[in-house]
Amino acid sequence: MANIRNIAMQHCSNWNSGKCIGCMVVKKNGRIKFFIDSTMSDKDCIVESGCDYFESIVVPGIADDKTRESAKLFKKL
Ligand code: SF4
Repeated sequence: MANIRNIAMQHCSNWNSGKCIGCMVVKKNGRIKFFIDSTMSDKDCIVESGCDYFESIVVPGIADDKTRESAKLFKKL
């Protein structure tokens, strides 16, 4: 089973050498918006303690079944 931090490193587009870029995505009124979350930007990755972006955007997009299931087990999604 893969370590969740390694899964974030390999699959999260916000991962930057252990720091988070903080680029978030929201859908509002039929439009996709991107913004930088200053509470996450340039801070240490928080995937081990819980990251909404990872759980709602990254994990569903992981193509490899075993890796996606490992991520779900870690976070009990
Ligand atoms: S905190 Fe979340 S969004 Fe940022 S790098 Fe880690 S997993 Fe990705």
